[in-house]
Amino acid sequence: MHAWRTLAATCLTALLICTGIQVAGADPSVPDHRTALERDDTANLLAVVTKQRPIHPLDYAPEDLVTWPHTDFELRAEVADQLELMFTAAADDGLAYRVVSGYRSYDTQAGTYEYWARQSGTASADAVSARPGHSEHQTGLAVDLDNTTGECYLKMCFGETTEGRWVAEHAHEFGFVISYPEGTRDITGYAYEPWHIRYVGPQVAGDMNRRGYLLISTYLAPPASSVRLGELLGSHG
Ligand SMILES: [Zn+2]
Repeated sequence: MHAWRTLAATCLTALLICTGIQVAGADPSVPDHRTALERDDTANLLAVVTKQRPIHPLDYAPEDLVTWPHTDFELRAEVADQLELMFTAAADDGLAYRVVSGYRSYDTQAGTYEYWARQSGTASADAVSARPGHSEHQTGLAVDLDNTTGECYLKMCFGETTEGRWVAEHAHEFGFVISYPEGTRDITGYAYEPWHIRYVGPQVAGDMNRRGYLLISTYLAPPASSVRLGELLGSHG
């Protein structure tokens, strides 16, 4: 048993108590509406991967990757299913997206980071790219999105496009959160990335949205370091 698994299990136990999420088997008369990953792979589903907290083991690779249609990008199977649901809902609102990145292996991330470090030095590289073993993309839960114009491809202006706004408003309904929201760089170490979403499952994403949590790391961590929407917006209501 890896230490991080134990930690994740501890976090999950606290989470279930704090949020009132139904524990399977606790009451057989209550139907369990959680998705497969929410039921069976919570330790990996809610793994917190940050600049300070690498994936463990470093060469972790998900076993249920599927290829996103018409691309070379891979995602965990449930993530792809939920993303498809989200895209279908967005299409009903007249919006279309492209998947522009998905799972990245440790080796791929090493190459990506080295590329940025060569281009602009490690300080600049650290603001835009994760070091190998420290990327959410290695979990198979993270997706980079673009709209179909390409004008804001991996740029902050994606957040101002109709597609970017729709994602910010609706992603949680399908189990996704924006990993590096505006105004959280002091905590995440990353510049605002409105295109990078990460799957945590609809139960947790919905609860984070209801309670105003922006970051999965602070949602699962002690409240001393939490960032809530109201605080960022200067609201005291
Ligand atoms: Zn990304």
